[in-house]
Amino acid sequence: MKYLLLILLLALVFFMLGVKRARPPQRRTPAPPPPPPAAMGPQAMVSCAHCGLHLPASEALPGRGGQFCSAAHRAAFEAAHGPR
Ligand SMILES: [Zn+2]
Repeated sequence: MKYLLLILLLALVFFMLGVKRARPPQRRTPAPPPPPPAAMGPQAMVSCAHCGLHLPASEALPGRGGQFCSAAHRAAFEAAHGPR
């Protein structure tokens, strides 16, 4: 009778260990990774009026002669074409 109790206790311990191993408490629902920026959809592309570089319209700098890739090219374009 003593051994039966011991075996029952061991079985209970192994059962609880098995349950713990089957269900890890951390990271039960991992969050999905955010979509990459390329998956956001096509963007309008513009070309720099000074050097012709193509860049997204959201990054372009508007100027008097059109869209520019940088403030330096906008200044160079406006200096080359003169103030009106
Ligand atoms: Zn440019």
